[in-house]
Amino acid sequence: MRTTTGWQATGSSELSAGLLERRELRPDDIAVRVDYCGLCHSDLQALRDHDGHSRLVPGHEFTGVVTEVGLEVAAFSVGDSVAVGNIVDSCGQCRMCRAGQENFCHEFPTLTYGGKDRVDGSTTLGGFSREYVVREDFAYRLPEGLDPAAAAPLMCAGITVWEPLRALDVGPGVRVAVVGLGGLGHLAVKLAVALGATATVISRSSDKADDAGRLGADGFIVSTDSAQMTAARESFDVVIDTVSAPHDIAPYLKLVGLDGTLSVLGYLGALTVEVADLLIGRKKLSSAGSGGRPSTAEMLQFCADSGVVPDVEVLPSSQVDTALERLAANDVRYRFVLDMSDLD
Ligand SMILES: [Zn+2]
Ligand SMILES: [Zn+2]
Repeated sequence: MRTTTGWQATGSSELSAGLLERRELRPDDIAVRVDYCGLCHSDLQALRDHDGHSRLVPGHEFTGVVTEVGLEVAAFSVGDSVAVGNIVDSCGQCRMCRAGQENFCHEFPTLTYGGKDRVDGSTTLGGFSREYVVREDFAYRLPEGLDPAAAAPLMCAGITVWEPLRALDVGPGVRVAVVGLGGLGHLAVKLAVALGATATVISRSSDKADDAGRLGADGFIVSTDSAQMTAARESFDVVIDTVSAPHDIAPYLKLVGLDGTLSVLGYLGALTVEVADLLIGRKKLSSAGSGGRPSTAEMLQFCADSGVVPDVEVLPSSQVDTALERLAANDVRYRFVLDMSDLD
């Protein structure tokens, strides 16, 4: 085994810096020096849910540099800039994997942390550490022109909004509405606009109206203002719902136009839907999460070509507790990224 340092929760949900082990490289593995790791809502949730019986190292959107390659690695060399997201392996055989949708693998993809390694059965430890060992197939070349710190959140938040935007053919002439302006929502706005669509932000208050305009949105609707919501009835082709708490989707379905789609990305539990709300207007209800290998590579290249990166606040990794507290309080615009160099 090889050792590195990382932020880990062991007996409780408190993170502390300490040594952790990484596997020796298999023939198709690369070792990555983790430089920047984004902070995702699911990291917060994983720490809250942590039972203390095992070791938890969060972090599943990171960028860094290849420091070593396995004997059969073909795609990467030492010194390459790479990005890794929330999936580090899949079966490679099932219909979804063969379709390039490893995120939907029938055997469930191996998650970057808290997952079960497909070879040795060990529990994966995440990117809040200075080194990660990963199969080359699940690392992505970081295109030139992308800032490695700002690019880190593309690997979870970015790809999660990119796949549905692409699957729903968002482009010129398409009217997109984004519900909730947080980590996911602000990237949905930027990507939709970069794809040529128009974007409207739907938020509970007008606090973020200026930000919405700065991000490229040309419309803003306050969801608690029933007059505004009524006026916007059936005026969008695609509504991307990033609200992470349980909520009523009926008001957002009303905003969807004829044959349009509501894609629910933020809350993945049970929701109630009146089928009549779909019937009227032949509306579609969908969801998405993470991404397959082809679309992840495509997303990174598109972001490099179009200059889209998330708005990030970079903190030294020693301030991870502050970042978690502020994320819990929604006090971030719009994503924290931890600089891991202080772990050396
Ligand atoms: Zn995430
Ligand atoms: Zn599979």
